[in-house]
Amino acid sequence: MALFKTIDNLDEKGDSKQVSSEVEKVKCLILGSGPAGYTAAIYAARANLRPVLYEGLEPGGQLTTTTEVENFPGYPEGVTGPVMMEDLKKQALRFETDVRFGLATATDLSKRPFKVTIDDKKVIEADTLIIATGATAKYLGLESETKFKGQGVSACATCDGFFYKGKDVAVVGGGDTAAEEATYLAGICNKVYLIVRKDYMRASKVMVDRVMNTPNIEVLFEHVTKEIVGDMSGVTGVVLTNSKGKEVKKDIHGFFVAIGHKPNSDIFKPYIETDEIGYIKTVAGSSKTNVEGVFACGDVMDPTYRQAITAAGSGCKAAIDAERFLGSVGH
Ligand code: NDP
Repeated sequence: MALFKTIDNLDEKGDSKQVSSEVEKVKCLILGSGPAGYTAAIYAARANLRPVLYEGLEPGGQLTTTTEVENFPGYPEGVTGPVMMEDLKKQALRFETDVRFGLATATDLSKRPFKVTIDDKKVIEADTLIIATGATAKYLGLESETKFKGQGVSACATCDGFFYKGKDVAVVGGGDTAAEEATYLAGICNKVYLIVRKDYMRASKVMVDRVMNTPNIEVLFEHVTKEIVGDMSGVTGVVLTNSKGKEVKKDIHGFFVAIGHKPNSDIFKPYIETDEIGYIKTVAGSSKTNVEGVFACGDVMDPTYRQAITAAGSGCKAAIDAERFLGSVGH
């Protein structure tokens, strides 16, 4: 028995077109609107796959929460994350990608066409699926962190840093994100404590140097966050444990978590193989997953590089793989 009532919306040339039914059929469905998703869209659209792209929860992806991007080739003066994502979106739209607001909430990838439910309502049937759903910021998992989320606890300095103008804040993490958040906040806030659990930072040398050369950042190596404290007004401090097991309290108003990300792969897991963290496994040198016709690109499948440029490159691969797959099955 069919799971969904299907109304084919491919026109006589086989291109997708809008219908006012609950089920819509497309050649190429792209989930995600970061550099991977938009690059896949640009390539798929130029190959006449008429891609439909759903933007997901965070249109533009993680780069919309970053400040300056200095390492994406083609921007000699650097560019802000939101501007770069707007440029990528414009380029995808120029080739008539159908960009839509919506979140994939369920999938049935047991056979083609694949069924993807959007916002728990609409069902898309797709001949090929490109997963570019990226990754989401991780939190420490402390009860007090949950309690003060949105009231002093944040995972995005560019979104929330402004609220702590002239105040003291803390950032936790030792990677590039933490270094970037700390230097960004240092330009707004009075003082930034950078809480690093090891005796070194794993961020790139240039970022570590930037942190070390910013006078109002104090790096607290070998410190672990025990508790975030506050009152009705929000966060007022953080309790840390140092390498000797001694408790250290810092008075702060903002606590920024920058400890990495979790790949957004949960809704594909019954069908798509992932590693133990949740990164989608792809066939080496390609974007192919274990399901024929489903391709993955960007941070959701990349535990190693996780850069905008590598995400964009993998989006290109996914679109080319999808095009070749459709050719091989006679579309
Ligand atoms: P990373 O995974 O690189 O770093 C996470 C950091 O958080 C590590 O220092 C880790 O510590 C620490 N951490 C993890 N869990 C905890 C915990 N429970 N308590 C305390 N600390 C914890 O993530 P990033 O988000 O920083 O970077 C992801 C990728 O994106 C990297 O490849 C990075 O280079 C890239 N990036 C590039 C940027 C740019 O080029 N402009 C900007 C931002 C990111 P430990 O080291 O001990 O494991």
